[in-house]
Amino acid sequence: VGGGGQPKPTNLEIRKARTELTFKEDMDLPLRKSHENPEIINLYKNYLKEPLGHHSHHYLHTTYAPNKTRDMATYNVDEAAGLDSILARYPKHPQYLLPIIIEESDKKGYISDPSLVKIANHVQMHAPHVESVISHYHFFPRKHTSDTHVYLCRCHNCMMKGQKKVMQAIKEKYGVQDFHGSVSKNGKFTFHGMNWLGYCVNDGPAMLIKRTGGDYVETLTGLSGDNIEESLNSLKGKTYKWAKNNIVEQSLKSKGKEYSLLENHISVKDAIKKAVQMGSMKVIKEVTEAKLLGRGGAGFMTGRKWESAYKADVKEKYVVCNADEGLPSTFKDWYLLNNENKRKEVLAGMGICANTIGAKKCYLYLRYEYRNLVPNIEADIKKLQSECPELAMLNYEVRLGGGPYVAGEENAQFESIQGSAPIPRKDRPSSVFPTIEGLFFKPTVINNVETFACVPHIVQQGSAAFKTNGLPKLLSVSGDVERPLIIECLLNGYTLNDLIKDAKARDVAAAEIGGCTEPLVFRDKFSMPFGFGKNVLNAAGSVVLFDTACDFGEVYSNKLHFMADESCKQCVPCRDGAQLLHKAFDQMRTTGKTKYNERSLKTAAEAAKLSAICAHGKALDPLFDSACEYLKSKKPL
Ligand code: SF4
Repeated sequence: VGGGGQPKPTNLEIRKARTELTFKEDMDLPLRKSHENPEIINLYKNYLKEPLGHHSHHYLHTTYAPNKTRDMATYNVDEAAGLDSILARYPKHPQYLLPIIIEESDKKGYISDPSLVKIANHVQMHAPHVESVISHYHFFPRKHTSDTHVYLCRCHNCMMKGQKKVMQAIKEKYGVQDFHGSVSKNGKFTFHGMNWLGYCVNDGPAMLIKRTGGDYVETLTGLSGDNIEESLNSLKGKTYKWAKNNIVEQSLKSKGKEYSLLENHISVKDAIKKAVQMGSMKVIKEVTEAKLLGRGGAGFMTGRKWESAYKADVKEKYVVCNADEGLPSTFKDWYLLNNENKRKEVLAGMGICANTIGAKKCYLYLRYEYRNLVPNIEADIKKLQSECPELAMLNYEVRLGGGPYVAGEENAQFESIQGSAPIPRKDRPSSVFPTIEGLFFKPTVINNVETFACVPHIVQQGSAAFKTNGLPKLLSVSGDVERPLIIECLLNGYTLNDLIKDAKARDVAAAEIGGCTEPLVFRDKFSMPFGFGKNVLNAAGSVVLFDTACDFGEVYSNKLHFMADESCKQCVPCRDGAQLLHKAFDQMRTTGKTKYNERSLKTAAEAAKLSAICAHGKALDPLFDSACEYLKSKKPL
């Protein structure tokens, strides 16, 4: 019931459901035994002759040869030149794998075989394991194809602004076959597609450019089919380009409210001092009474998390700030980290948390696409520690990711920091929270950027200040709006209708709330409030508005493509199911029918819901359901 590459079922209920489904599927099949399959019978009759005969043995039997030994003596060591100076700066431990890979990749533009072997030896891992880890990231080529890599964003915002035309122009002008590492005919660029660049909302369609030799990324924005050549030709020398900031900030103060997370700046020095004086239990009490729910989407009580980690009778504990904002159309964390005052509040929140639970090390896990923020974050860490003696001994580290969306899942993020593949942990009972077994399997508090940003405000103002109205919440709003917005709201009753009014959006027919994995929300739900939990619209942070001119079939297709593309592929129902459902949906929307029968598609979606390890796979079923429902009913616009 749990074999063949499937995750192991975790309880009797799941096992029973899967057993029933498997039997049902089998009993309903018109052909149930392979030796009765007419095609197999024909194959034997016309070619293989008999089972276990000469032909069948020759063609169907597999033999294995030992792997080529990965020995430095067999490689051109020049390809690993200069790597020693990088390795000399890192201790010999798997947890340094990712930073080493990033440095080597920055320097040479790819990870050669000799470099891979040397790195593996240094971090005390097997070379095939390192190879497998690298394959999970998007930004570390294994071969030299060109000195410049170009990543074209395919999020909804870029699509709505003409990304397809840009793609077509690139294909025509540069002879690019696909967006999976195809090299331009002039040999200057290697092209890739990506699902969410982040700051592309400012002026899409946009591209991320990574050139060999730089420890930064560049962005080309405002692309069109006509200007693509000119834009790419402008990439000469070190032209540092960062997307212009076109985002409109709409704070609570601008709406006449008293308190705003965006506009009220906290003296982080005072907040840290006060938190230390209050002591752990009082800080936890304040955070709990302020009802601070995790701002990343799950909405878990932050105070309870901190309390659990504080009470763990273990010396080694960690704090992780999750800044891997990979959920398409969410840009509030980037917005906070790009603002000097807010960035300091985030770092102070992490410091207060570490001091409260007794952790000595904090990681800020930043998505690769946001790496240009690193110098400012590191400078602010230094400043904060020199100004606040309470944090002087705390070890802060900014850890860059490497691209995959699933690295935003907490356990996948721990694995990434530890040097393993950034994929969710399997065989893990849901009751084992990170505060029991987190990073390095030690008690860990992992919170989102916005959650940490709230902490100094709670400490300084006291939880009572937020008793009546609750804490402010930020929403990233994009799509059919004049300019993208960061809207600050209060969760007690703020509805999608209110947001549409605040954003001055017109003719809105649908919205995507909480990212690509969620079904679209149509007008019948516009009066629902934002929040965390049941019967509310997920306040995780992203809202994309679509007007009546939108092709929702295309939007759903893009969402299903995202599901398939970003599956980490460790569970079969998510890996294969997402591909299958995307393919079937595209057939249905373009031709009105699909070659797959409805029952098989339903089974694939349900299998993912029942047995996927993480929320990504579980989201397939409701998403596909709503996509099909849209095709059938063409919801009233
Ligand atoms: S559900 Fe999908 S993304 Fe999640 S662990 Fe399984 S394969 Fe990976």
